Amino acid sequence: MRTSIYPFVLLCLIMIGNAIHSQRLADKRIVIRADTILDGKGNTFKNTRIVVEGDKIVAIDPKAGPIDYDLRGLTVLPGWIDAHAHITWSFGKDGKNVGAGETTPEAAYRSAANAWSTLMAGFTTIQSVGSPTDLPLRDAIARGALVGPRILTAVEPLMGRGEQTGTAEEIRAFIRKQKQAGADVIKIFASQSIRQGGGMTLSQQQLNAACNEARKQGLRTLVHAYKDAVRAASMAGCTQVEHGTLATDDDLKLLAKNGTYLDPQAGLVIENYLLNKERYLGTPGYTEEGFVAMIKILPMNHDLVQRASKTPGLKIVFGTDAVAGSHGRNAEEFIDRVRDGGVDPMTAMVSANSLGAEALGMGDRIGSIAPGKQADIIALDGNPLTDITSVRRVVFVMKGGVVYKNVPHARH
Ligand SMILES: [Zn+2]
Repeated sequence: MRTSIYPFVLLCLIMIGNAIHSQRLADKRIVIRADTILDGKGNTFKNTRIVVEGDKIVAIDPKAGPIDYDLRGLTVLPGWIDAHAHITWSFGKDGKNVGAGETTPEAAYRSAANAWSTLMAGFTTIQSVGSPTDLPLRDAIARGALVGPRILTAVEPLMGRGEQTGTAEEIRAFIRKQKQAGADVIKIFASQSIRQGGGMTLSQQQLNAACNEARKQGLRTLVHAYKDAVRAASMAGCTQVEHGTLATDDDLKLLAKNGTYLDPQAGLVIENYLLNKERYLGTPGYTEEGFVAMIKILPMNHDLVQRASKTPGLKIVFGTDAVAGSHGRNAEEFIDRVRDGGVDPMTAMVSANSLGAEALGMGDRIGSIAPGKQADIIALDGNPLTDITSVRRVVFVMKGGVVYKNVPHARH
């Protein structure tokens, strides 16, 4: 009766959801005391208090009281934003990767569990790109029926297949269809997988049509791009480049000049594949040759992050490409960026806070600790500016004014 635990877990999640909902109504005003706050924009506040009313931060006031949560000894910061996850990817009954391909009750429970783990790891907002199965999960969390991060999603991605992708008009119609289906953002695959060489799969004209139509519909565009596709995406006016491996310095300068966001992955996604090799190998898209290629790609990604972070004016956001095995471990990517990508820790935090929010077009609502912002607040046992591994020790999570995690911690 191994599977019988799943309905139980779901029931618990719903009960917690209801309990949390009642807490929201009962406790209108919450005061959090902290001695170290990173505000999400690169500033540090010392010895003050955050006042929350309903789902919003209403004041930063060192005299506010009475205190509901004393987070002294911890580092308090805005909930993190992961610009690129695949929240419904999981390992199936046999332990092997099933991607987002299953629509069984078990797969739905696994998705709910992924959402729970992601929130508990300090991620209060994620952009989950490229599976229609994200939609009901997004909506259930937004209704308060399930516990998880705020989700933005792309429904069906536009898969570049050269000529076969369609004419400019067909591509525009596809974009409008995603908008009608409830997409928050458009995901576009303009390159093959890097494991297969990373060549372009959409022409410049096709990319122009896709990103132009999305803009007309009021939607942002995330383009999976390597090598030449990086430049092409920026020239097409797309919002954000995902991955970006093997982009040249000139390509990176062009992104900076055009204001195109870059979302590179310094390590977690490949480290996770290598860690779970037996669970991925033989499932669609994962071959022995692919794994050999990944070992070579990892240093290329370190190199990209190193060069990107030295490119003046380039807006680098935080995205993990979390798939099965990485949900709840998203913060490992911070460690990779700092350790292997040479990124300054404060810059790494801002990339997942105010800059990440700006890239989502949500800079007025999330990503910083300031009056008027959503009360998305987390606390780490340790200070990431001096010890980046403290991102693994998330001991407090509030999302929209509701506390979901508050682990007892030692006062340092
Ligand atoms: Zn991805």
